[in-house]
Amino acid sequence: MMPAMKTFPRFLLLTACAAVAFATVTSAVAADKIRVLLVTGGHAFERPQFFKIFEDNTEITFKSVEHPNPKEGPKPDPMHPLLKPDAAKDYDVIVLYDMWQPITDEAQGDLVNLLKAGKGLVALHHCLASYQAWDEYAKIIGGKYWLKDRGEGSAKKPHSTYKHGMRFTVHIADPKHPVTKGMKDFEIFDETYGGFEVKPGVKALLTTDEPTSGKTIGWAKTYGKSRVVYIELGHDHLAYENPNYQRLIAQAIKWTAGK
Ligand SMILES: [Zn+2]
Repeated sequence: MMPAMKTFPRFLLLTACAAVAFATVTSAVAADKIRVLLVTGGHAFERPQFFKIFEDNTEITFKSVEHPNPKEGPKPDPMHPLLKPDAAKDYDVIVLYDMWQPITDEAQGDLVNLLKAGKGLVALHHCLASYQAWDEYAKIIGGKYWLKDRGEGSAKKPHSTYKHGMRFTVHIADPKHPVTKGMKDFEIFDETYGGFEVKPGVKALLTTDEPTSGKTIGWAKTYGKSRVVYIELGHDHLAYENPNYQRLIAQAIKWTAGK
């Protein structure tokens, strides 16, 4: 009985050591990855094809959160608790692919504080039209898609416009910037936005001469200590499956994460 009893604890000990070693290795691998909070909701999109961009990115892990479906009645927004400082320790970069209006004063304050402290932000496509009534949001992402006309009389400015199914050339305005590094001008089949606002002081990364589009369609900026990138592209799978689009998102995530 004695030898067997001696062997048994040793076996357990070895198993425990192996488990600890394995856990250390996996957490080291996970620690290398950029942790993304991916926000969707308020606008339809081709879900599997969109999420594939993030699933295929070996440099990141991501958690996805969606605003509540308004058809199901008023519900708390699951994004808002994730903007609290404690919850925000679990991710490095927020990627916005939502188009959403309701936001509490508290959630606004939490988001502003996170960004001022340096959380990265990548803003994609229709999120340019989010939070129309919250002026600070346009300052955060560096632009605004106007859903309604604004101003009065001769100062009246029309709402922004969109056009689906356009084939156009995207010009890399700054091939030295980390977000566009190594990239060349490319063609894409995507939706264009026209008549949207781009805030002064942003660093233009992508431009186009397509007449239905605003000229600057991608930019980088800072907000507090946060690095922010906006990319207009990304209506559906024709953009999602374009390797240049995937590369832009990957490089934007990396840069905004401070890597
Ligand atoms: Zn779209």
